[in-house]
Amino acid sequence: MAKETPMMKQYKQIKAEHQDAFLFFRLGDFYELFLEDAVKAAQELEITLTKRGQGEDSIPMCGVPYHSAEHYITQLIAKGYKIAICEQVEDPRTAKGVVKREVVQLITPGTVMDGKMIDEKENNFIGAVHDFEDGTVALARIDLTTGESVASLLTDDPKDWTRELAGTSVKEVVVCREAPERILEEIKKLGITVSYEDNTGVDQAFHSLCRHVQQDKIIQTYARLTNYLSSTQRRSLDHLQAVEIFNPNNHMQIDVFSKRNLELTETIREKTKKGSLLWLLDKTVTAMGGRLLKRWIEQPLLEKDSIKERHSLVSSWLENFFAREDVRDKLKEVYDLERLCGKVAYGNVNARELVQLKRSLLQVPGIIEIISSLNNEYASKQIESVDMCSPLVDLLEKSLVDEPPISIKEGGMIKDGYHEQLDEYKHASRNGKEWISSLEKKEKERTGIKSLKIGYNKVFGYYIEVTKANIPYLEEGLYERKQTLTNAERFITPELKEKEALILEATENIEQLEYDLFLDIRERVKDYLAPLQQLAKIISEIDVLQGFAVLSEEQNYVMPAFSENRKVVIREGRHPVVEQMIERGEYVANDVTMDKECEMLLITGPNMAGKSTYMRQLALLSIMAQVGCYVPAAKAELPLFDQVFTRIGAADDLAAGQSTFMVEMLETHHALSKATENSLILLDEIGRGTSTYDGMALAQAIIEHIHNNIGAKTLFSTHYHELTALDQNLPRMKNVHVSAMEEDGEVVFLHKVIPGQADRSYGIYVAKLASLPDSVIERAEVILKELEGGQSFVKTRSLEDNEKEASPQQLSLFQEEPAALKHTKASEEKASSQAKGVLSELKKADVLNMSPIQALQTLYDLQQKIKD
Ligand code: ADP
Ligand code: MG
Repeated sequence: MAKETPMMKQYKQIKAEHQDAFLFFRLGDFYELFLEDAVKAAQELEITLTKRGQGEDSIPMCGVPYHSAEHYITQLIAKGYKIAICEQVEDPRTAKGVVKREVVQLITPGTVMDGKMIDEKENNFIGAVHDFEDGTVALARIDLTTGESVASLLTDDPKDWTRELAGTSVKEVVVCREAPERILEEIKKLGITVSYEDNTGVDQAFHSLCRHVQQDKIIQTYARLTNYLSSTQRRSLDHLQAVEIFNPNNHMQIDVFSKRNLELTETIREKTKKGSLLWLLDKTVTAMGGRLLKRWIEQPLLEKDSIKERHSLVSSWLENFFAREDVRDKLKEVYDLERLCGKVAYGNVNARELVQLKRSLLQVPGIIEIISSLNNEYASKQIESVDMCSPLVDLLEKSLVDEPPISIKEGGMIKDGYHEQLDEYKHASRNGKEWISSLEKKEKERTGIKSLKIGYNKVFGYYIEVTKANIPYLEEGLYERKQTLTNAERFITPELKEKEALILEATENIEQLEYDLFLDIRERVKDYLAPLQQLAKIISEIDVLQGFAVLSEEQNYVMPAFSENRKVVIREGRHPVVEQMIERGEYVANDVTMDKECEMLLITGPNMAGKSTYMRQLALLSIMAQVGCYVPAAKAELPLFDQVFTRIGAADDLAAGQSTFMVEMLETHHALSKATENSLILLDEIGRGTSTYDGMALAQAIIEHIHNNIGAKTLFSTHYHELTALDQNLPRMKNVHVSAMEEDGEVVFLHKVIPGQADRSYGIYVAKLASLPDSVIERAEVILKELEGGQSFVKTRSLEDNEKEASPQQLSLFQEEPAALKHTKASEEKASSQAKGVLSELKKADVLNMSPIQALQTLYDLQQKIKD
């Protein structure tokens, strides 16, 4: 092999330090990727993979143009990758040998700051996790874009700490290099990018932010995170807020599984916000409000007084329609203050954004006035100590023009009268320009050329333009040729040259001075980071709560009450999301009544009747209530639930790859071991993933266990009708069923939940809806009748039976082949081997342990096999 080029040597050296990132290696106008990076990037980005070098020594390479790199970086970040940007750090023209290159920035999913790479209505957290020997796990997370910092000390039960990671928009997690595999696995399972940092000493810069924290484990983990940030970001992090300790025990806990099942922030199938509870509740006006709402939904409250405060404010906004509309109008003008603080600290805010900041701040007094007009005790307390940052408004008002450019290097940002020296430069520049425009007139008079003009371009500066025909009229020796066009010549005179120098100098001075002044203004904004962040908090809360009021009014929600003795009384409750998905007025409202005498409802009813919807409805209403929102019902009284568990029988679990009976049981086990009498448990067709007797036995044992040992409020839906007899021995369990009605042989779902058990399951009807062949449906009906008639086993219909019934033109698989029909050898063999297969499968089928549905499916499958 030939010797490696010096540049490749340099590449490999740099790459060795950034093994887990794509190395974007700057080469002229391109970022190039080599070797494995190139192969992987070409695949992920769908760009062409090429080669560098010839023949044997060639290596894979691909590249993206420097000016459109952002587009590709965004795609890679969205897929959870990291990117190390490696730039040329010396001028290639003066470099000796290979141009010096360095990694100037590491872009990772948890540290992106750029607007296009982050969702404005979602936090973008980077976390650190450490597993300590005493069975605790510390977790810290920071949103670089907003400066929020939160930390918790949890148990090392993966359910416990992954719940805090999964529900909170954490995109990247920092761990120590020796982190155990089981920790890494859990993180990867959540699709979160992993990064490493071993230093756990608190840097001086972050000392004040965690001084109040007592637990050393949290401090170490927080330090691990900030050390990682300092080493990858290499810039100011002044906007980071003091660490807030989050104790999950002060909140309603909803594990990852239940969050997904209840579709709190995204739907199960499409993984979109649309169709989730978050989507429904989001009537916020600002991005900050949107982010806060998501956090609230993920962490409903447990403490009654705090919940009541939120309810009271929703009530105030409901009562004051005009105030609400007013505040919504004002909020529309409020820019994302939290992320703006991040940009100010990071040093990438421009003048246009600072003007937006000013406009936002100008809305604040009006907003505060509206809030105080509500005469709401809680709201008044919130705004009591608010700092409206008036001096900052004055500064921005006085210094920046109303429509500054995006660039901060080309002037045009600073108002007249803000800075004396700048005004002088501007004066000189304006004077010069005026002088030049008067020159045109003078020159026309002097030369008598009417078409003469004076112009300016970036390359040649100022010039006098004269058409070719008029050139003889120019006085000789005075006009110096500068540029030749097809029809005209451009000239300069000594007089014009002199002025031009003055003007250009003034422009240069203006640009430099404006830039300096802007940096100074930006520095002064930094002094206001804390009050701005405080203001952002108040505004986002106001925004979320006014949104609850808007929704509650639109949808007729009511304020829920909280019962002291674990009573559930819901009158005319509705599933908030399903209600939106069907035609208005079509939703059938349902009651839920549970108390000390009734801890558990066993729900039966045909498939598609609305059992799952009914169960989830209670969970969603409870979550909405504890988030501080009103609820879709005519009346609602609820306990404060400490935890909500939702488990779904494996056959019903839509999330791909999870539908094993083992998962169903593991998840159920977790619910049973963690639930208390203050929890809410939803078990939807548990036991479904195994054979009938097995499943029924498990379901019964689980029901008994919850009833006798836990006492949590439980809704259990089942297709095992036999279980409804349990109410004889379990005094706190009641049967309810979702009613359906038969009309002219068709089933009409009434979606109404009423006491007592359902009489039959209508499974066959659903099969009909799904267009199974008529012959299968008819046969299933016969089997069902016989089963219902007390037969424990229905004789399998043999193929001979089939044969007897077969119409003459149908070809039986077993009949002697009629002479008239000529088959090829191959198709004959195929048919007989199919028949053998069907027979042997039929022999193996465990008919006794099949549910009617399973029998039906088996029959159907077999039939498909012998159909052509
Ligand atoms: P089950 O769990 O009993 O099989 P689901 O709860 O999944 O049934 O409900 C099936 C469908 O019936 C839902 O997707 C919804 O469209 C409709 N539905 C359920 N409950 C109601 C209701 N109370 N009012 C109107 N439609 C409902
Ligand atoms: Mg269901």
